[in-house]
Amino acid sequence: MKNKDRKQLQANLGKENLEFFIELLKSRKNPEFDPQYIREIKKISQGFNIRLTREQKLLFCQKCSLFFEKENTQKIRLDTKHFTKNYTCPRCFNVKRFILKK
Ligand SMILES: [Zn+2]
Repeated sequence: MKNKDRKQLQANLGKENLEFFIELLKSRKNPEFDPQYIREIKKISQGFNIRLTREQKLLFCQKCSLFFEKENTQKIRLDTKHFTKNYTCPRCFNVKRFILKK
């Protein structure tokens, strides 16, 4: 097997694992394992250089790994000056900014 093929294969495996953990997280079957799932998701996305989609990024706080449920949802504010949508984590107040589509 060529080195490039192996890399591609590993990236695919990484992506599968990533989706697996995201599904587990979304299923809310074991909320007590959230920190472990989120740690795995971060590890895989960094290790394999897989970019999370916007939807996936908004599932949990990138800083303190808090899963955003309906009760502890992020504060959403529109910044019309910078054309961004700002999401604030209720626990660590980390702000995540997304550029608005014009
Ligand atoms: Zn946070």
